[in-house]
Amino acid sequence: MITLTINGKTVEVEDGTTILQAAEAHGMKVPYYCYHPDIGIDGNCRMCLVEVNGNTDKLTISCKQACGEGMDVQTESPAVKKARKGVLEFYLINHPLDCTICDEAGQCPLQDYAYKHGPGDSRFVEEKRKGPKKVEFSDKVIFDSERCILCTRCTRYFENVRDSRPIGVSDMGGKCTITLGPNGPIEDPYQLNIIDICPVGALTSLDARFNQRVWFMDFAKTICPGCSKGCNIEAAAYQGQLKRFEPRRNPDVNKSWMCDDGRLSYDRYNLTDRVRSAHVAGEPAELGVALDKVNELVGDGAGVAVLASTKNTCEDLLALRTWAQAHGVTQLWHGAETWAGDDFLKQPDATPNTAGAQGLGFEPVPDDVPALRGLVVAGDVPVPPALLGTIDFLVHQAPTAGELGPAAMVLLPGRTPLEKRGTFVNHEGRRQQVRPAVDPGPGVPEDWTLWRDLAGETARADWPSVRHVIGAVDRALGADKVASAS
Ligand code: SF4
Ligand code: SF4
Repeated sequence: MITLTINGKTVEVEDGTTILQAAEAHGMKVPYYCYHPDIGIDGNCRMCLVEVNGNTDKLTISCKQACGEGMDVQTESPAVKKARKGVLEFYLINHPLDCTICDEAGQCPLQDYAYKHGPGDSRFVEEKRKGPKKVEFSDKVIFDSERCILCTRCTRYFENVRDSRPIGVSDMGGKCTITLGPNGPIEDPYQLNIIDICPVGALTSLDARFNQRVWFMDFAKTICPGCSKGCNIEAAAYQGQLKRFEPRRNPDVNKSWMCDDGRLSYDRYNLTDRVRSAHVAGEPAELGVALDKVNELVGDGAGVAVLASTKNTCEDLLALRTWAQAHGVTQLWHGAETWAGDDFLKQPDATPNTAGAQGLGFEPVPDDVPALRGLVVAGDVPVPPALLGTIDFLVHQAPTAGELGPAAMVLLPGRTPLEKRGTFVNHEGRRQQVRPAVDPGPGVPEDWTLWRDLAGETARADWPSVRHVIGAVDRALGADKVASAS
């Protein structure tokens, strides 16, 4: 361990920790552009200059300098503040002042640092540099060279994280710019991550640009439901409509990344044809009447099976299991949805909670399906035709009626994963918290409450809130199944 002082505070850090990392870890913010914890150190932007051991003639870039024993670091000294002002004045010489029409405005470190650390005015009276705008790097990414501050995060992302070089830096001096390589448009299925790491509005997503101002949107910290990786995301919504998914850093799961397919899947959860009330035999019915009908149809549970979507949370599934077992239903199965995984993040299981379902006792549908009297389908899940062959009744609970809806004796409303509270267990056994990004509006209760109410008085008394069910899932899965919640 190394002991040093930062702004007069004595701190201890691991050998090899940089000054910037040490300062951040102890709550002292040092501005930077080119450094990124998941891309690495470059040291080109000069924003992170600090004063070491009183040396004001030659400030040190804190992202690259390792902490030394007994070092005395100042991150807010007059010399540091003066240097930051100078660096920012230099950046703003050529950066267009078009914040009012820039998609990055409101989440732009250049804007923020200029406000917080910048000189407030400029001595530059010459004409700003002009450069290509609206350059299509692919059918997903647009580049504006005038806004680029040449931090090279985007090129280093491809080199260091994706082991490819679809873009690079060309030319020199004032003509220096980011350019597409000779092989044409970027084709990487994780290319939209460069939009997030670009610290200015030079790289924008064709899908998200000019869609909605960031300050008008609500952001929910949740989990991507696209596959069993369980990438941590922020889901942004405006007036009840999902507008974008962005990765949320979790060094143990997805670092700062997510796949383009997952990112662009948000609109799938903006439903236009949702089930807003219960139906019995095709006719709208009070929820209580429909729930009574379910229990009447299921009877003692003989010959009845439950097929659950693994887009349900653990809490939905525990409540469902509790109801099913109270009614003698012992055949608890979960659905399967697959897609092509890869060796980076995408998993072949295209649902977020198969591990949670299995931990709670739901099994894959057996190859040899027994003859069934009835089937309860919980969630939006493909149903193997063999399950429908002999049944007398079908209960279907889902956000949309889908193909099963017309055949259902009882149709119950359901929520999408972006409307749920609870937890998912990812493919590595990590249990992570799911939070609602949008509210489905009236008539659509939380799924776990529906099964809890069906289960009866005891479940209602035991689980007055989702926190109680989360606790019950803790116990049901056992502590070893709960890697962490984020
Ligand atoms: S496009 Fe953005 S991320 Fe790439 S070098 Fe320019 S400012 Fe940095
Ligand atoms: S890898 Fe899976 S969980 Fe991650 S963003 Fe893609 S679809 Fe979502």
